[in-house]
Amino acid sequence: MKHNFGAGPCILPQEVFKDAAAAVLDFNGLSILEVSHRSADFVKVMEEARENVKKALNVPEGYTVLFLQGGASLGFLISAYNFAGKNKKAGYVNTGTWSTKAVKEGKNAGLEVIEIASSEDKGFNYIPELNDIPEDLDFIHYTSNNTIAGTQFKSIPETNIPLICDMSSDIFSQPIDVSKFDLIYAGAQKNLGPAGSTLYIVKDSVLGKSTLDIPTYLDLQVHAKKDSMFNTPPVFSVYVANLNLKYMIKNGGVDAIAKRNEEKAELLYNEIDNNPNFEGTTEVKDRSLMNVTFRLTDDSKKERFDQLWNDGNIVGLKGHRSVGGYRASMYNALEIESVKALVEIMKAL
Ligand SMILES: *Cc1c(COP(=O)(O)O)cnc(C)c1O
Repeated sequence: MKHNFGAGPCILPQEVFKDAAAAVLDFNGLSILEVSHRSADFVKVMEEARENVKKALNVPEGYTVLFLQGGASLGFLISAYNFAGKNKKAGYVNTGTWSTKAVKEGKNAGLEVIEIASSEDKGFNYIPELNDIPEDLDFIHYTSNNTIAGTQFKSIPETNIPLICDMSSDIFSQPIDVSKFDLIYAGAQKNLGPAGSTLYIVKDSVLGKSTLDIPTYLDLQVHAKKDSMFNTPPVFSVYVANLNLKYMIKNGGVDAIAKRNEEKAELLYNEIDNNPNFEGTTEVKDRSLMNVTFRLTDDSKKERFDQLWNDGNIVGLKGHRSVGGYRASMYNALEIESVKALVEIMKAL
């Protein structure tokens, strides 16, 4: 088996892979790939998946869970359209590549976009403070974990303005207080399931309140009214996400997951800080527990290090082209043994 440190699509538990493979061959006598999304058997899966999201994240009353298509990239546009208010003015926190794309889509939706904080001045290697937030914003949008830069918010911004968060790369990695948000969205493929579905957790009171004319598919109220079945949902992705949700809940839920993720991150960051061959690329206080970015202190060792980890059955360690260096993504299902294997290789350099 290979140790998968890839940034996404993510590793999932072996048990989930096995159950998913079995359902491709036999899901109540049909393949999960051919079953009608309107069949009672699949409607039950969709309902279960939506309920299990609520269970796993302790979602309070008054929120709707949806599984849609289009990835988080469509979520940038969907969030802007659905939350446009009377001022058509939105605040974005720009902490990296994905936030920058969200800003662009906010503008594409026709909103006046204010970057209320940004870490672009230092190549997105830290999480900026949120000061002087204008009071007339319709919403604030931020990215909880910056998959490419390797930074992560350690607390939820305090504000009375409706709060939207792209949690694509750290949802289900730790407990979150959903009540602080008006919308959370996340592409499934970083911590939840296979690519193809995008999770939305939206406050019911917001639905139908937009001041923009929303194209049908982008209107969250349309999807909520149809119980996430407005059109053909990504059946297989939802099915496997539900398997993974059940697995998470059975194994101690997000509390147990958070503990393991902290252990994994501590192990790797310790090595980066104590091994003179490596250095971290972000400010220590803002380090991501999911995507660990680091580089060699001496580039002449690159060939040897690359050889070592490739020989050690490690995949996906190459940093994003915009940051360079290395990135170890440690999503929920990555075992601590894999992190130990990487640390041993770093020690051997
Ligand atoms: C991967 C990622 C995205 C893009 O997700 P798609 O589902 O590929 O559109 C957006 N935001 C964050 C934080 C991500 O990690």
